[in-house]
Amino acid sequence: MKAEIMSIGTELLLGEIVDTNTPYLANQLSVLGIDLYFTSAVGDNSARLLGTLKQAWDRSDIVLTTGGLGPTQDDITRDVIATLLGEKMEVDPQLKQELVSFFARRGIEMPESNIRQATVIPSATALVNPQGTAPGWWVEKKGKIIVAMPGPPGEMHYMWENQVLPRLQQRTGAVILTRMIKTFGTSEAKVDEMLADLTPSPNPTLATYAKLDGIYIRIAAKAEKEVEARRMVDGREADVRAILGDIIWGIDDDTQESMAGRALIDKSLSVAVAESFTGGFLTQTLATAADNERYFKGGLIAATGEAKMALGLDPKLAKSEDKAEVARAMAVLARQKLDATVGIGIEGESGVEPESGMVPGTVYIATDSDKVDVHTVQSYSGRLYQMKRRAAYYALFDLVKLLKA
Ligand code: AMP
Ligand code: MG
Repeated sequence: MKAEIMSIGTELLLGEIVDTNTPYLANQLSVLGIDLYFTSAVGDNSARLLGTLKQAWDRSDIVLTTGGLGPTQDDITRDVIATLLGEKMEVDPQLKQELVSFFARRGIEMPESNIRQATVIPSATALVNPQGTAPGWWVEKKGKIIVAMPGPPGEMHYMWENQVLPRLQQRTGAVILTRMIKTFGTSEAKVDEMLADLTPSPNPTLATYAKLDGIYIRIAAKAEKEVEARRMVDGREADVRAILGDIIWGIDDDTQESMAGRALIDKSLSVAVAESFTGGFLTQTLATAADNERYFKGGLIAATGEAKMALGLDPKLAKSEDKAEVARAMAVLARQKLDATVGIGIEGESGVEPESGMVPGTVYIATDSDKVDVHTVQSYSGRLYQMKRRAAYYALFDLVKLLKA
């Protein structure tokens, strides 16, 4: 089977968004063992879209498209597929009902333009989209397939995993299992280098992804039977763990906050934080974890020395240039003020380098508890937003290490 991928949307051609759908699908196809011969990006223009789609239809067995399924006038993927196949679009009553209910649940009337999303053609089966309003289309005609999926990556991934992949697996007669291994504190290039002996393997495959909470490694294995695929994934996970060791903090749905929460609950401990520099990112991250009321006492957030004093920090420390010392004092303050067993203090500094626009900076993270008193100092650079978000994850990563020690 020869496949090709088309990403649709003028914003892709203007460089306003980066096409992440194509690499995702390309990786999935390679795991499925489906050959990918072409990828293209095309704007929201009927003539060019029709031309590109026709070319894809003529030369490939399966065409995957993402984007252009929205309710607005520039979302024309459905119309162009109908034109290509010479079929008429009609409103599907059940799809219409689902859309109406979707809006009703949110207490709003369905805008008339959304009706476009309830249409199908005779060769298309709608792929439901519980993540949004745009159903996808699975189109089959003359032994060829077009799969039209929504552009937003979250919606597309969900549709792919739950509806497209199972259909394709039936055809290829393969079972695919994946597992995401999550690491922190090491660069993507370094992780890649460490795993260099494993990455050439065509099955199971390894792919790395850089995220704010670390570098993820996806293991994907293809086999005829699920037990066999599971055995392959387990084996490869063991290989990866043997190489990466304690930079791994979780798998699949684990989040750093859930891991920290679990460790705190296991030890019947509680945590409070005092943040400067990160502006509440750590507080927010902890506050959105499930079950956080069992261990999270709260967060103190200050930006200036005055604010730190208002929160109760010793005036000498509040204005101190010794940022590590400030972080340490903030950890103690959070723990005492909010009556927690563990306190985390974050302080940092940064400055924009005029030439690169990058922000070299230092974040000081201190943890303070009855049992252990550990202070770590991390220094790294990046965009300010990323640096601040990442600092919060550094603190959680440190916390889990501290609790496990
Ligand atoms: P659409 O389905 O065309 O209405 O796309 C809606 C939104 O999905 C876009 O504004 C983007 O934010 C996102 N999106 C669309 N295509 C892609 C793509 N290829 N990669 C990443 N994001 C995309
Ligand atoms: Mg669009």
